[in-house]
Amino acid sequence: EQRAALATWEGPGRTADGVPVKILANVADGESARKAAGAPVQGVGLFRTELCFLNRKEEPSVEEQTSIYGQVLQPFGDDRYVVVRTLDAGSDKPVAFATHDGEENPALGVRGLRLSFDNPGLLDRQLDAIAAATAETGTEAWVMAPMVATVAEADEFAAKVHDRGLKAGVMVEVPSAALLAHRMLQAVDFLSIGTNDLTQYTMAADRMATDLAHLTDPWQPAVLQLIAITAEAGRQARKPVGVCGEAAADPLLACVLVGMGVTSLSMAAAAVRPVGARLSTVPFGLCEEAAEAALSASDPVAGRDAVRALLG
Ligand code: PEP
Ligand code: MG
Repeated sequence: EQRAALATWEGPGRTADGVPVKILANVADGESARKAAGAPVQGVGLFRTELCFLNRKEEPSVEEQTSIYGQVLQPFGDDRYVVVRTLDAGSDKPVAFATHDGEENPALGVRGLRLSFDNPGLLDRQLDAIAAATAETGTEAWVMAPMVATVAEADEFAAKVHDRGLKAGVMVEVPSAALLAHRMLQAVDFLSIGTNDLTQYTMAADRMATDLAHLTDPWQPAVLQLIAITAEAGRQARKPVGVCGEAAADPLLACVLVGMGVTSLSMAAAAVRPVGARLSTVPFGLCEEAAEAALSASDPVAGRDAVRALLG
């Protein structure tokens, strides 16, 4: 049944019994956006804007940023949407014109939204460019901030985005944000869980360290607990909660996330069909059972085994 689904699945995302789950793509620039637009996705769940700027010595002008963002928005027309993440510079993504040099511990330093607040003109110019690009292309843009740790940060970011008439969200990548998801949702319109960093910060294990792969595993029950808390907050608030980290690209784990109440899954374009096809064979109740099994497992290996036994 799963092989047949993989051969024929053309979206939109849904469970076997028809519960809708948006399947979205992660993109980096105009070229990857054009490719992703040809896949059966309902839009983009993560546009990593910093990847456009990694090799730039100076900040691009608002006009140039508008053009770059427009190239990502345009392929999705007026019936699909693009979640644009503001600059996530610092640590594993150094950007010459923004990153603080000489930090002892850059993963715990001035990075992500902290860096944008440290340099408010930078954030304002980026938001102006996103607003201009959505007006020019007619493609809806939702805007979200990376590395949010406090409710005050979410409030301040949401106010700036709402001033420009756009939907505002924050990423849940730090355990504090997951624990306070219900408070964050009072200010923002949506949440997006970045499981790569959420795992790193929950397990205190560098996401780049290959010898710590057993810890930087999104099947870690502690990470899943934080995802479940976040998804439940979204359910209570009736607002969307997506996952845009690597976890969403694992077809088995994707079913677990849906069972927790996650409403969208965003992934590299190559994972879209395997994930969408697998989800289309599993009824929602079985996703919920899989979520319970993964959450109550003692470790990632036991979790995977239990879920595989349930879902086949
Ligand atoms: C994440 O941390 O899971 C995420 C999606 O952001 P990035 O991988 O770009 O840090
Ligand atoms: Mg991240």
